[in-house]
Amino acid sequence: MSSAAYENSNYWLEPMSFEQGWRKHLAAAVKQVVSIPVIAVNGVRTPEQGEALLAEGTQDFVSLGRALLADPEWVTKAAEGRETEIRRCISCLWCIEALEANAQKGEPVECAVNPRTGRETGRVAPRDDGAGRTVVVVGAGPAGLSAAEILGRRGFRAILLERDSRSGGQLRLASVPPGKDKIDWCVEDLEAAALREGAEIRYGCEATPALIESLDPCTVIVATGGLPVVPRVPGVELENICTVNDVLGGAVRVEGERVAVIGAGMTGLETAEKLAADGNRVIVVEMADKLGPGVYFQNLEDVLSRLAQHDPEYMTSHRLVRIERGTITLEDIKTRARLERMVDRVVLAVGVRSDDGLASELKSYPPPVKIVGDARRPGRIAGAVRDGFDAAWDL
Ligand SMILES: Cc1cc2nc3c(=O)[nH]c(=O)nc-3n(C[C@H](O)[C@H](O)[C@H](O)COP(=O)(O)OP(=O)(O)OC[C@H]3O[C@@H](n4cnc5c(N)ncnc54)[C@H](O)[C@@H]3O)c2cc1C
Ligand code: SF4
Repeated sequence: MSSAAYENSNYWLEPMSFEQGWRKHLAAAVKQVVSIPVIAVNGVRTPEQGEALLAEGTQDFVSLGRALLADPEWVTKAAEGRETEIRRCISCLWCIEALEANAQKGEPVECAVNPRTGRETGRVAPRDDGAGRTVVVVGAGPAGLSAAEILGRRGFRAILLERDSRSGGQLRLASVPPGKDKIDWCVEDLEAAALREGAEIRYGCEATPALIESLDPCTVIVATGGLPVVPRVPGVELENICTVNDVLGGAVRVEGERVAVIGAGMTGLETAEKLAADGNRVIVVEMADKLGPGVYFQNLEDVLSRLAQHDPEYMTSHRLVRIERGTITLEDIKTRARLERMVDRVVLAVGVRSDDGLASELKSYPPPVKIVGDARRPGRIAGAVRDGFDAAWDL
């Protein structure tokens, strides 16, 4: 029992916002009229959810799809009572996006949270040769956590330095908009795996060259992540300008205002949804001639269908050229015509740049320094997790 087709693919391969078990009404309806067992795919990501569906009687068997790309040992771990070790699929659809792109190059599927997926035969088991040597990892975002897990498995002493009071890096912001709570699973699972493998995470700890040197590591892995880009536009220093990080991180509270979100990538659109849900009137401005340039169509469709309920104004093919108190000036990319819009606040969502300050300071540092994740090149969860994993595996 499954549902949907290419024409309505979000009801077939669901994006992150769909709850586990969302199809159970379909399975239950079929079960009422047949006398044979019903096997249903139902967005199940945890054994607990699977058990609940069986107990409810909506289906007789639980079928898993992407959950097994995220963790091929899902069933074994569930059977052995090791549910907390399962790497949960977060329904991000990276596997499908990568499959479509990689198939053209003859390359395999990938998974955002499982860096071994698609290359299991090349990465069978890491060498066990760390011999207790210290590796300092800076940053407990997905790249740093992924590195720490493999370092621990290889027998290194992994010391993770994190300036924040918790793990996750930018993913702590990514999980805030509506429907993004599964991002927290990714952080929880990566952190749990690193700790299980013996990594030591020092929270509230700003890594400096002096501190790193005092720990006498054989290698340093820099996973300091990314920072929001702030464009050089006249007026950008005004007090009513902020970034998506400020809004999602709670540093700035915006309610009941007219807000211009600059940038209609996934982050801009998701932040626009949160702002609209918080009672703001939202204008989304995008330089490209369409919303969500580069965003996978299923994720775009998902966020736009929810945003539509708030009736935002979209201004594509326009760029921000000036900000003043109470107004923004936009320029039409094609005609160069300018227009003004009255707004109370501007929220910038124009991308991420590498936070590579520490990496530069460590350039002349004697032990090898590896730069991973957004600190090397801004990207997404998949790239960060794989980068950290590869750096630790290949050390
Ligand atoms: C709002 C938002 C939404 C996003 N949504 C998605 C999404 O839905 N899907 C997706 O795939 N990607 C998403 N991304 C991108 C994704 O979050 C990043 O690609 C990923 O987090 C990069 O991981 P990282 O480990 O390289 O860096 P980060 O996550 O940035 O982690 C870096 C860590 O290093 C720490 N640090 C930095 N300097 C120091 C220092 N000197 N000492 C100690 N600690 C330090 C920071 O505190 C931070 O915890 C989103 C990003 C943002 C901002
Ligand atoms: S890439 Fe994302 S959706 Fe696909 S299996 Fe991995 S976590 Fe799940």
